[in-house]
Amino acid sequence: EETSGNSIRRRFLEFYSARGHKILPSSSLVPDDPTVLLTIAGMLQFKPVFLGKVARQVPSATTSQRCVRTNDIENVGRTSRHHTFFEMLGNFSFGDYFKKEAIKWAWELSTVEYGLPADNLWISVYEDDEETYAIWHDEIGVPADRIKKMGEEDNFWTSGATGPCGPCSEIYYDFHPERGQHSAVDLNDDTRFIEFYNLVFMQFNKKDDGSLEPLKQKNIDTGMGLERMARILQKVPNNYETDLIFPIIEKVSELANVSYARADDSTKTKLKVIGDHMRAIVYLISDGVFPSNVGRGYVVRRLIRRAVRTGRLIDIRGDENGNLEGAFLPIVAEKVIDLSSEIDPDLKSRKSRILEELKREELRFVVTLERGEKLLDEMLDDALGKAKVNNADPFLSGKDAFLLYDTYGFPVEITMEVADERGVSIDMSCFDIEMENQRRQSQAAHNTVKLTVENGSELTENIPDTEFIGYDTLYSKAVIKG
Ligand code: ATP
Ligand code: MG
Ligand code: MG
Ligand code: MG
Repeated sequence: EETSGNSIRRRFLEFYSARGHKILPSSSLVPDDPTVLLTIAGMLQFKPVFLGKVARQVPSATTSQRCVRTNDIENVGRTSRHHTFFEMLGNFSFGDYFKKEAIKWAWELSTVEYGLPADNLWISVYEDDEETYAIWHDEIGVPADRIKKMGEEDNFWTSGATGPCGPCSEIYYDFHPERGQHSAVDLNDDTRFIEFYNLVFMQFNKKDDGSLEPLKQKNIDTGMGLERMARILQKVPNNYETDLIFPIIEKVSELANVSYARADDSTKTKLKVIGDHMRAIVYLISDGVFPSNVGRGYVVRRLIRRAVRTGRLIDIRGDENGNLEGAFLPIVAEKVIDLSSEIDPDLKSRKSRILEELKREELRFVVTLERGEKLLDEMLDDALGKAKVNNADPFLSGKDAFLLYDTYGFPVEITMEVADERGVSIDMSCFDIEMENQRRQSQAAHNTVKLTVENGSELTENIPDTEFIGYDTLYSKAVIKG
């Protein structure tokens, strides 16, 4: 059986096409929906249909939707399964079929089409949803030991603070059945399980006051993570080592002059972070989101900066001589674009625009970084000098570290690393206090900025590099469970 990422995607779409679903294209990462910043799931393009605001064009559809979830940014490279950018394969019913068919087909797809051993599959169901439990147990024949009843947090899916929602049921793959089946088994244990397929029984509209209004029709909304299925079928230790992402990581390794296979865990994590972020960056820019200090543009800017500074931590620089003509993101982006033909056939036509934008943004950020490095060097010289005079241990004040971070946009991880190299300790508790104060202020500042500043104006250039917290909290809790 073909298990490449591209063939897993194709097989999913063909499986549902053969069962009456119309294959539709992915929608943009920029949703046509003011309540969400970015496309976080396959259902977004169908939201008006689910709500009954727009008549359905077809009874059922199937898509491979590109998604970006900024709430998972901290998970990237730390868990084996989370990306900022990923593809969600989905099958949707607009008042056509419901639970029984959705469950039957999801099981057939998993066990027959993809050939996963039934004994390795676990099911979660919403605790109050006896009907779904009975379908899995009595009709599909999944033993009670491997069906977990879970609460709202995991098994009631909502697309936002308001909007279509419903109980859901998920399929998990067990990499370690030898660890046994007992009541303490935790399906969220990343070392044993991976959640790969979520079936949402979309039958309510969540109103402003939190109440649930039954929808006119009962719908099905599902999501299967392509990278996760690829990881299972390709039998690799994490999503990053699948053919969907690994070629990008190999390119980054080459630039860093390291071997992924022989790298230590911390280096591997950095390679994964760059590999992950590059996909998100390229697809966001391709969908028209350019780096800026506001809204979606700020998401791209943060991802680019994380990628650049992570690159520097593994010694990737423009070029040996510190020549600012050399940027590395465009080189990695070319690899992402090479792999894009079945994710987004239009992407290639935007290649030169994307590479140019990346080069400009990276070089601009490198200037910031280098200015910070120079300042830090001076601060460290000063600290070492003082320590000598006072016959004490050299240290850098938290205020200075924060000044570098806040006023000069200089990443604190780099401050810590360089200080450590030179034997200078940093008063991090003071840094944390400054950070906390700024966090509170930046929330307010961010709102003002959003209303008054045009992208690319001189003013935006001078805005300090604030922590991005606004949008994550806007929907991470409400939209994405687990
Ligand atoms: P998790 O609990 O692992 O964070 P989730 O419950 O938040 O996943 P859903 O909102 O149910 O995910 O999305 C449907 C499917 O999309 C998941 O079952 C998974 O296969 C995939 N998926 C979700 N988030 C990510 C991500 N950050 N990276 C890769 N795939 C993802
Ligand atoms: Mg889920
Ligand atoms: Mg989950
Ligand atoms: Mg999640």
